[in-house]
Amino acid sequence: AAMREANYLANLNPEQRAAVETTEGPVLVLAGAGTGKTRVLTTRIAHILASRLAYPSQILAVTFTNKAAREMKTRIGLFVGAEVEGMPWLGTFHSIGVKMLRRHAELVGLKTNFTILDTDDQIRLMKQLIQAENLDDKRWPARTFANMVDGWKNKGLKPEEIPEGDARAFANGKGRQLYAAYQERLKSLNAADFGDLLMHPIAIFRAHPDVLADYHRRFRYILVDEYQDTNVAQYLWLRLLAQRSRRTGDDTDEPINVCCVGDDDQSIYGWRGAEVDNILRFEKDFPGAAVIRLERNYRSTAHILGAASHLIAHNEDRLGKTLFTDAGIEPDHEKVEVNAAWDSEEEARAIGEEIEQLQRRGHKLNDMAILVRASFQMREFEDRFVTMGLNYRVIGGPRFYERLEIRDALAYFRCTVQPADDLAFERIVNTPKRGLGDTTVRLLHDHARAKGIPLMAAAAEIAATEELKSKPRRALDDLTKNFARWASLLANTKHTDLAEMILEESGYTEMWQNDRSAEAPGRLDNLKELIRSMEPYDSLPGFLEHVALVMDAEQNADLDAVSIMTLHSAKGLEFETVFLPGWEEGLFPHQRSLDEGGRSGLEEERRLAYVGITRAKQRAKLWFVSNRRIHGLWQSTIPSRFLDELPEDHVEVKEANSSYGGYGRGGMGGYGASRWDADAFSTTSYQTPGWKRAQAARAAETRPDTAWGSRSGHKERAISYGDQGVSGS
Ligand code: ATP
Ligand code: MG
Repeated sequence: AAMREANYLANLNPEQRAAVETTEGPVLVLAGAGTGKTRVLTTRIAHILASRLAYPSQILAVTFTNKAAREMKTRIGLFVGAEVEGMPWLGTFHSIGVKMLRRHAELVGLKTNFTILDTDDQIRLMKQLIQAENLDDKRWPARTFANMVDGWKNKGLKPEEIPEGDARAFANGKGRQLYAAYQERLKSLNAADFGDLLMHPIAIFRAHPDVLADYHRRFRYILVDEYQDTNVAQYLWLRLLAQRSRRTGDDTDEPINVCCVGDDDQSIYGWRGAEVDNILRFEKDFPGAAVIRLERNYRSTAHILGAASHLIAHNEDRLGKTLFTDAGIEPDHEKVEVNAAWDSEEEARAIGEEIEQLQRRGHKLNDMAILVRASFQMREFEDRFVTMGLNYRVIGGPRFYERLEIRDALAYFRCTVQPADDLAFERIVNTPKRGLGDTTVRLLHDHARAKGIPLMAAAAEIAATEELKSKPRRALDDLTKNFARWASLLANTKHTDLAEMILEESGYTEMWQNDRSAEAPGRLDNLKELIRSMEPYDSLPGFLEHVALVMDAEQNADLDAVSIMTLHSAKGLEFETVFLPGWEEGLFPHQRSLDEGGRSGLEEERRLAYVGITRAKQRAKLWFVSNRRIHGLWQSTIPSRFLDELPEDHVEVKEANSSYGGYGRGGMGGYGASRWDADAFSTTSYQTPGWKRAQAARAAETRPDTAWGSRSGHKERAISYGDQGVSGS
């Protein structure tokens, strides 16, 4: 053990070492990108285990994504070996929350096997409730309401706690009542949504001090990565677990030692309720906290660091930090590149070619990433890379598990595991078609409501009466008996065999076999893939829980492939080469942040830009296009103000190497020239510099159908970026 100990501590600088070795009492590590915060957390856990300060099960460690949790586990394993397997409390807020909730579900009126609803289910449920109130669900869309409820839950607010104004804002003042009805409905469905995975534990801790005390005894060490992006609910949950008055004297309790690491400049989830204030409040919440700053960046070249630091310095709301790298500027260090393309298709083509060139020079695809501002930007790259035969993986994007046939199959599995899962039952009751139309479904609903039982049970009861004609009656009878039989096989049949059997016997597989549409073969392949993907799990419920929690779908991790993801999901990651397309006003900074008018939205966008650039170790390549096609409509764009805010000496503006003929005549070439000559390069003002306006005018000229100048149109279309998913992790 001594050997190993020496090993891991040797790889740290003195400040990092202090953060690792200050195991007792609260510690806050506040430091910029790439300074080794995550490394500190990982090593700290290794140190705690190696020094026998705690058992693996006494450590609570929170990461921002499942992927990060897995990586951390792997690294800790390198130091301490198999012991890491005994760390059940290493995961995301959600995965830890669900684990706690399963242990105490009955305290909030749920059963241990409760279902976790995804957004789709959530919206469907809310729509029913809105309609049941005789409200027009066009005027008061369920999706909007789902967002509001998520927002409240992120703030840790129960129905009776939401602010008056908020409550009035939806459905003529029925917001609160609907929220309460929604919670009731969840309970009767034995279901929880994502927000509940923390809301319920918080409620349990507050109402049951004995349960909380139990956790206090359990957790000796609490560690949190990316602390700057915790929201109020996460903060409350954490504080309940971490804060207890330290008793003195011979008390047997040991103090809980909390260590949070974060970077205020990387707070990018404000739009989802994250509060950077949590980090500023740390010293108040945990008196006597040691605050450790790390200033040396180990990740990026001086050019990349210089560009990123200069950019983020334009934000006023920051604590301010120094960042330096020991690596001097080497001749082979590339400056941060700014590239121009005519449109997004050309952007994707050019980036694809550059990737191939790098590959030819011996660089691995795994070391390259494309980081987009909005997920709709991904499609262009996916299309292009498929054409080129270039391997890529989408991280955190449109997920496999969200496809229609997968969702149907999952609904069958959910009903098998949890017969009270009404939403799942409703989804598949007539898929494939069994002659169970709307009338039958309504009858089921009425019966279920009248008797206060789940739809499945109602179906079984109705099938035993004369209420329906013989065909639907038989169909219902078959279906419910099938589910009962499948459920009885859960304990003793291999879960993959059972899953396959369910899809066969229900007629679901056959439905797609008989389908003549072009997508049908692909769907059948997906269903096969679904069964394959279950293999690593030991049971159907275990697999379903995994699906509910998966946030970052990783595809075939062994394949050498370029990663495509949003900037939001790139947090904490690093790559040799990073491509950053779409640096245009309205897309990045995003139009929504500009419309808000205030400083905060724009500053969050700038932090996102900072996160993007600091993911790069060796190469950061920024791109903008002068025309973007959205919903089939051309729109001229102007380069992002963030490009103006980069320091000249670390940036190289590439001449347009565009294949587009009309391009060279002063268009993008002019970008470079005017950029460095004119006073347009003013970093203090957010005004559109003159050269940009001129360039926009030129763009409009060359492409008359772009209708530059229709500002409102520009805005509307830009807003719809949001609808296409500016997604997070
Ligand atoms: P971010 O803010 O982006 O999450 P971070 O502060 O968590 O960054 P890490 O990811 O822990 O930084 O570290 C950045 C890189 O620097 C990693 O490749 C890590 O292995 C390396 N690194 C960190 N500390 C050291 C060190 N003392 N010696 C050598 N390499 C280090
Ligand atoms: Mg990190």
